[in-house]
Order: sequence, then C-alpha cells, then structure tokens
Amino acid sequence: MGYNPQKIEKKWQKFWEKSGIYKAQDKAGGKKNFYHLVMFPYPSGNLHIGHWYNFAPADVFARFKRMNGLNVMSPIGFDAFGLPAENAAIKRKIHPNNWTRKNIENMRKQLKSMGNIYDWSREVVTCDPEYYKWTQWLFLQFYKNGLARKAKVPANWCPSCKTVLANEQVVDGKCERCDSHVIQEEIEQWLFKISSYADELLKGLDSLDWPETTKIMQRNWIGRSEGHEIKFQIQDTRYDIQVFTTRADTLFGCTYLVVAPEHPIILNLKSEILNLKFVEQYLKESKKKTERDRISDLKEKTGVELRGIKAINPVNGREVPIFVADYVIMHYGTGAIMAVPAHDNRDFDFAKKYNLPIKMVICPNWPKTVCPILDKAYEGEGYLVDSDKFDGMPSRDAKERIGEWLQKQEKAGKKVYYRLKDWLISRQRYWGAPIPMVFCEKCSWQPVPEKDLPVLLPDIKNYLPTGEGKSPLAKSKKFINTVCPKCGGSAQRETDTMDTFICSSWYYLRYADPLNKTEFASKEKLKAWLPVNVYVGGAEHSVMHLLYSRFFTKALNKMGLIDFSEPFLGLRHQGIILGPDGQKMSKSRGNVVDPDEQVKKYGADAVRMYLCFMGPYNQGGPYNPDGLVGISRFLNRVWELFENSTPTPKGVGAPTGSVGEFRNKNLERLLNQTIKKVTEDIEGMRFNTAISAIMILINEISKQPKLLEIENWKLIIKLIAPFAPHMAEELWSRLGNKDSIHNQEWPKYDPKLIEEERINLIIQINGKVRDKIEVPSGISEKEASDLVINSEKIKKWLQGQEIKKTIFVPGKLINLVIGVD
Ligand SMILES: [Zn+2]
Ligand SMILES: [Zn+2]
Repeated sequence: MGYNPQKIEKKWQKFWEKSGIYKAQDKAGGKKNFYHLVMFPYPSGNLHIGHWYNFAPADVFARFKRMNGLNVMSPIGFDAFGLPAENAAIKRKIHPNNWTRKNIENMRKQLKSMGNIYDWSREVVTCDPEYYKWTQWLFLQFYKNGLARKAKVPANWCPSCKTVLANEQVVDGKCERCDSHVIQEEIEQWLFKISSYADELLKGLDSLDWPETTKIMQRNWIGRSEGHEIKFQIQDTRYDIQVFTTRADTLFGCTYLVVAPEHPIILNLKSEILNLKFVEQYLKESKKKTERDRISDLKEKTGVELRGIKAINPVNGREVPIFVADYVIMHYGTGAIMAVPAHDNRDFDFAKKYNLPIKMVICPNWPKTVCPILDKAYEGEGYLVDSDKFDGMPSRDAKERIGEWLQKQEKAGKKVYYRLKDWLISRQRYWGAPIPMVFCEKCSWQPVPEKDLPVLLPDIKNYLPTGEGKSPLAKSKKFINTVCPKCGGSAQRETDTMDTFICSSWYYLRYADPLNKTEFASKEKLKAWLPVNVYVGGAEHSVMHLLYSRFFTKALNKMGLIDFSEPFLGLRHQGIILGPDGQKMSKSRGNVVDPDEQVKKYGADAVRMYLCFMGPYNQGGPYNPDGLVGISRFLNRVWELFENSTPTPKGVGAPTGSVGEFRNKNLERLLNQTIKKVTEDIEGMRFNTAISAIMILINEISKQPKLLEIENWKLIIKLIAPFAPHMAEELWSRLGNKDSIHNQEWPKYDPKLIEEERINLIIQINGKVRDKIEVPSGISEKEASDLVINSEKIKKWLQGQEIKKTIFVPGKLINLVIGVD
C-alpha cells in the first residue's frame, strides 16, 4: 500500500485526541516542565499560511523538546475581542459575537488538521465571560494600585475605526488595523501608567533570550535619555523657562529658545508680548494641525518670535530671543527647547529661515585652527570653543561639568526623560470587555465591586461605532444605568470597552489554570509553568503585545500576585511568507496560498515539513509549490523504502536510544552524524538544515536498503517524528509498537562513531616520496591537492613550477608531476 496521508493523518489525529497524550499534567514524574507558546490567533475566519508558518515549525520544536524528556505544555486559544474581528463582522453585516464564534469553530478544525501537540483542554477564548471576568478583575487591581486613571489627553483617533488607538498601534501615522490616517483629538480616556515602569522594562531586557533587533526596538520605543533640565530666567520678570537637553556642552551656542504653542509662559506674559495679535493668530493656525504633522520632518518648520520678552542664557548672561513654534510639543519633555543651530540640524534650518545667529561651540579638532564654515549642523562630539573656561574640554566631559557648574548655582538639575507614554486603553467600540467602572455625580469614579464581575457585554442590536466619541454601549439604557457602589445612589457605567491588547497581556497566565473560578490562576499552577520558556510569534508585535505583556507581568509582580517579573524568557520570530511570485501575499495580487488546499492535496506532514524546509525560519521567503512537491516526494520515498526493506519486529524491546548496528561503517557514521546535526539544528530552530541532513541520510540508505536493521528504522522514524508526526506514528506502529512514537526518547549519537577514520596520505613529487600527512580517509582529489600545494614543506619542492599532472590513489597517495617534460 502506498503513502496515503489523508488516511493516516485523520486516523492518528483521532488517536491522539482520544488517548489525550498531549494533555499537559502539572506534574509529570521527575520531568521538568517546559512551557512552549505560540501567539494565539485572532479568529479572523480562516487559518492562513502565515499562521501555519508560525505554528507548524514551532510544533516541531515542541515535539523535539518533549522527546528530549521535558514535560511540555503547548496551549492554544483565541484572541477573540477587538477591532480585527469586529471590523470584519461589520463588513459582512454579521453580529461580532456570531461572526467570532463561527470563525473559532472553523479555525479549531483547521488547527487540528495540522497535527500539533496542542493541549485543547487549556483553550482560552478572550470573549468568554469566564475569561473577561478576570480581564476586568485585573483592570480593578491596576486601578486600586494607582496604575489606571482617567484623563483628557490628546489621543490618536482613527476616523475609519471610530475609536482612539494607543501610540503603539499607530504605525507611520496610520491605524495599525485599517491603514487609515490617524488624527489627534482630545478625549477623556482611561490610561494605564506603563510609563512608571519605563526603567524596569528597560533593565529587564538584558536578561532575556530574545532577538537583539526586538530588544533594540523596545529600547528605542522606551527612549530613555539622560540629561539636564536647565532654567532660563526671563529678563525683568519672575518667570523662567525650563528646557531639557542631553547636550549641556553646547549651552554657549544657544542663540534662542523655542516654546510649544500650549506653553503657559505665553499666557503668563501676555501683556508683555508686543506682537500678541500675530502670535495669537499663529496659535490658532497650529491648533488645526495634527501632532504628527507638527513633528513631521518633511514639513517646513514655522514659528513666531515673542517680541518684548527675552530669556537669559544661564552660562554667559546673554539675552536670547524666544520663539513659539508648533514643532515643539507641550507633553514632550518640558514643552520648550534651547536651540543650538550650529549643532542641531532642525535648529539649523530654523535659524537659517529666520536669520538667527549660528554660533559654533564644538570643534571636531583641537587646537582649533579654523573652525569649518557650516552648511549644516555639526552634531558630533569634539572640543569646546568660545565657551569661556570650558574651552578645549572634550565635549563628553563638558556635558557633566557644565551641568554640575549650573547645578551649584541652582540653574540646572539632572533629569531622565522617556519617550514611552502612558497606554491609552479606552476604545469607543462595542466588541471588547467593558471597563468595570461606574460614575456617580456625588462620588466620582467608583470601581465595580469584585463580587459583581463580570460586567457582561450586553447583546445589543446596534453595535456599529457611533463616531461621536462614545461606544455603542452608551445607547443602551439598560447597560448604563446602575447604582453607585459607594453611596447607593443612581450612577452610570463606563461605556468604553478595553483595548484588546489587555486581553492578550495576560492570556499566557490563564493557560496555566484555565478553569479556575475563584482566581485568574492559582499561585501553585503559575509556579508550575511560568514564565514561558519559549514564545514563538511575529516580530510585528515588538512594541505592542510584547511590551504590554512585560508591563503586566511587572505590575502583577509588584502587586504580589505573581512571583516572576518577565513573561517570556525565550522569544523567537518566524519570518514572513511571501507568495509564489516573491511578493507579499494579498487577494488583489491573486498570490494567496490556501493551506487547506495544500493539506488536501499533499497532507499536513508534507506542508509542515515544507514550511520547515523552505528557508531559515527567522527569514521566511516565497512559498514555492514545486518545493512542496519535492517534500511530498521525499516522504513517499521514505515510505517506500520502509515497505521495501520490510523490517520485521524482531528487534522490538532493544534499549531505546541505542544506535543499533549498521553492517556498513560509513552508514553507521553518517547516521550518528545526522543525529548530532538534527539535534543541534532543531534546538537552534534551523529546521531547514536539519531536514537536509535527514535527506542525505535517506539518500545513502536507499542505496542499500537491505542493510537496515529494525533498530536503525526506529532511529530514522524518531528523527522524522517532529516534522511528519502522522507518518512517523504510522511507521512506528507498523514496527509493532503499541506506545506512541511521540512518547519515545530522542535518539542519542555516539561521539566516537562520528569521528571519521584517518589515514596517512603519501605525497610524491615526480614520483619521489616527499611527505606523509594525516587526512580523513574519504578525502577527495581536489581537497588533497589543495592541501599539498599549500603545505610549507612541499613548497620548496614545487618552487612555483607548474603542475602538469596529478595522480591520485584514494586512501593512499597523491603524486604531483612538475617541471619540463
Ligand atoms: Zn482604523
Ligand atoms: Zn455615589
């Protein structure tokens, strides 16, 4: 009977489900627990090939760990609330709940067709009340610990999704979900104080086994900068302007200040400003612009001088003019900057435009002979010039020294700033977990008592976003009207729902204890499984999900709810799969690969194995249908080889892990080498090279199938098991085994058998023996002659003469014929 994946795959999937072999026990003998996690999918409707690329190779890794004696938990669930599902539902005019439930059903089936080792008994679905009860409970803990507040802040508003978004969810000024341009609106919002964890989020990165690029992205996003806050007195007033700078060394070159349009100094000194009308006109204009436009590098910077007031440069007492310009943002730093046009390109452009002095104070060389004439700012380090007593000092030192000097005069202080802003979590949308807060006229905001959770998301007919700055829940009187938990008077519920990134910030905790009705997860179970050992998912989550989850973990740790402070010790990103044409897959291009079709045609094992084989896992690449055919052929070949070699079950019972005996030394060596290579490559997620090694082995074996003992087959099947789990299970059972292949131990290699035999190769020049060197027995003619030509000892015999002929006797000698004939 030939290889029929459709038949054997269904059979073994049923067997695994029925026998429950992938159900993770919290304690399994003396085995160490290993938490293997993939990013759970949005129930978008169908599993696409990108999901497969995340999940299938990750499953190979999990199976490998399991065979290496670890007690592996590999759970799966659905990130079911939020914009992606809701937008898709609205487009189809289906209620988000119905749409989501239907998709989950379908995707469950598809996920099962992959043959992964998911423990389905731990499934979490974030839109289930049993789950979001705890999302709400966690919100309350954040609130009670001073980490959640409501405030009117400028927010990113997506006009298409009709909701605000967090900074992390705006990519290049566009909505991460629908690609619409985001605008700025001032709206009352619930915020999580992620900024108060900036330093801890930064420090924690050092200890993590994560891709360096992801760590760098998080570091840049958090954006710590260390510098000085410097006070510029305003001449003849009691007011001053504080500026933050990381370059106190350039203070002598400051020729003007710039304040944001919202800076209080404008209001405070209104009566002193001579061109007030003009200034007010400018403020009005800038109000119409979005923050993004204001800070965009592409737009020309505009500004107006505040005539009639001057600031005093604290280092030399000189007067400097003050400008208002909307490229300075009030909630970044102090809302004011000192401009050093000679050493900052943005200031340089502005100074040129408004004809302001440009004063060079850092020279790249010392002693200065001539400072270069600037056609752009010099932003590098160097030596101070025109800076009084600091002249000649390296700029690196001068930063500190000038700062200290001003600090003594109480004109400056050390300060650290972060780019990271608080996380805006309110969404004016229907499909999310209701925020469990109640507003009472008398008592202000009050948390819903924990015993009253969950606050159920009502089933309403009109779930479309309103676009009026409020969620559709605001129209449901039944939902809104409630009583104040504090005074018992009438009160109103919060109608915004939570950002779905909150649901995904803690789901990995719930997997440890998914059915718990009294806690979000018990301490004991959390201790058994957390933190996650290896997390596999896309790099696009670097500053969203991966940052939020770390914040959650750190906050819950500080609250005493968990006893670890990082959620994911190891992190790996899969690359991106492109269409067969090498372009990004999209429906409009018609290059989308449907995994279901591929599975139907070639079987899940072939698709799994092809995804592992197509290239380095962290790089991805184009999906090549011919490549899949090649893998399918390879699996067929293994199958036929097995059938033709008709191994009998006489060897059953031999110690597992033993290599068995090959009657052929070379084959035995190759087998041991292959085990070593496959072991190391899967460990490093180099699945493609692991498969290549297996292919080479099978190729050699097929030349002499009669030599195969049953023990050898056991080894080969084990090597294939993580990649093609169904076929491996089938062949394993045909060897007469009752227990699953996936409960077996990963094969070990014998280091002694890996070493290649070495021989003494005789080297002759014109037939005379000149040397003997030790080489591997299998050395080729090319390798041997390269070795000889480059040998110091032989060089003197060759004396640069042309080699006319090479005689090579494998395993014995090499003779180089040189000179005149
Ligand atoms: Zn949008
Ligand atoms: Zn009240």
